[in-house]
Amino acid sequence: MGPDSNFTAQKRSGTLPTTTAATPNGGGARSRASPAIPRGRQIQKTFNNLKITLLCGFVTILVLRGTIGFGNLVSSEAEAEREQMQEDINRILAEIRSVDDPVDPNEPPSADEEVVVSNGTYSLGPKIANWDEERKVWLSQHPEFPNYINGKPRILLVSGSPPNPCDNAIGDHYLLKGIKNKIDYCRIHGIEIVYNMAHLDTEMAGYWAKLPLIRRLMLSHPEVEWVWWMDSDALFTDMVFEIPITKYDKHNLVIHGYQDLLFEQKSWIALNTGSFLLRNCQWSLDLLDAWAPMGPKGPIREEAGKVLTANLKGRPKFEADDQSALIYLLISKKEALMDKVFIENSYYLHGYWAGLVDRYEDIIGKHRPGVGDERWPFVTHFVGCKPCGSYGDYPAERCLKSMERAFNFADNQVLRLYGFKHRGLVSPNIKRIRNETNTPLVSVDQFDIRHSRQQSSRSRS
Ligand code: UDP
Ligand code: MN
Repeated sequence: MGPDSNFTAQKRSGTLPTTTAATPNGGGARSRASPAIPRGRQIQKTFNNLKITLLCGFVTILVLRGTIGFGNLVSSEAEAEREQMQEDINRILAEIRSVDDPVDPNEPPSADEEVVVSNGTYSLGPKIANWDEERKVWLSQHPEFPNYINGKPRILLVSGSPPNPCDNAIGDHYLLKGIKNKIDYCRIHGIEIVYNMAHLDTEMAGYWAKLPLIRRLMLSHPEVEWVWWMDSDALFTDMVFEIPITKYDKHNLVIHGYQDLLFEQKSWIALNTGSFLLRNCQWSLDLLDAWAPMGPKGPIREEAGKVLTANLKGRPKFEADDQSALIYLLISKKEALMDKVFIENSYYLHGYWAGLVDRYEDIIGKHRPGVGDERWPFVTHFVGCKPCGSYGDYPAERCLKSMERAFNFADNQVLRLYGFKHRGLVSPNIKRIRNETNTPLVSVDQFDIRHSRQQSSRSRS
């Protein structure tokens, strides 16, 4: 075997040629062991080895640079990359925050794009006059989509938030927590849920966005009997309580509030539109039509705000909001509308957060979930907190701490089934409250909050 074949074998084995030649012991022994090789060949061999060494060194540098970085050169590159990423994030945020429609005005509408024809006065859509009849026919033709299941009306919980990111990332975090809380409640109680982040009608941006959305959902889901709107800043805080829905068989709007505040005081907080139920029927479509005209943003909303402030007790000066507009409408059309409106205050369909969040420890000590009233509030609504915007009525710190407490208070009721609870009401960390057992089904029977409701259906064996 000649020296070259030896060299080739080293290459194949992946060992660098210098490892034997350059080590003091191995290198010395080697040079002594090969005196018979002519001097010219030896120089050539040394030269080849040098070339391979340089090549391998170069490859090593490339690999190291790609994997662990290379001192200042790489750290400044990483810095540049970070800056580039931050620039990209800022640019994308600016793009999605921009209210301008990015659609090229010169571009003709595509085939699936509806051309909106406006006659000047605002409406939520084409007038629909015979919805009750049409819906009845549809339901009879679609027995696979019943509006009552086991005698219970089908309910769709609807919530939403603006299409753009919040002014502050913490706002998005609490929107996410709000969604998680609603998903939990709906999952436990077999309620369907829709979360919308699109402006179906840009005229109705902000708190008015719920109107076109509710109308669209009613028309797209004839199988839904009740649409239940809940603000993004409202949390379920009694995960066991269920709306006594059959109580409202003869009503079409269920809203939290007080009759005397509405009709005697004409107060702008007589009702709260942060959580209400609307039956899928002609009456509700008409109500939405009568409710909407103060909504279009700009001068209409501004002028309507003046009318509302002049007529409603305690209302500050600001543009028309959906809640004041509904209160004003119900006061003005009392005779025509009120026999279908149920003003609920026997439980917190909406609960004003400021009076509730500091009582949780006391509540936990004295009561059990499932009642929904002041003993264990059903819904806690963070009115005036605006975690997603910049201009709340309360200090941000107080709002965020209170929202965290409400979220964890509710989350504890869910985690209990799994044997955990939050370490404290402001702690995202959890602790174990039961030991693992080899009889897990006992815990399911004992702690599953779904068992607390009356179930009319039986599972098949
Ligand atoms: N909202 C929406 N899309 C928007 C803006 C608001 O769906 O573009 C919803 C959101 O759920 C929000 C609700 O409208 O919670 C009402 O607004 P907000 O809660 O700020 O009013 P408040 O209850 O404080 O009067
Ligand atoms: Mn709200």
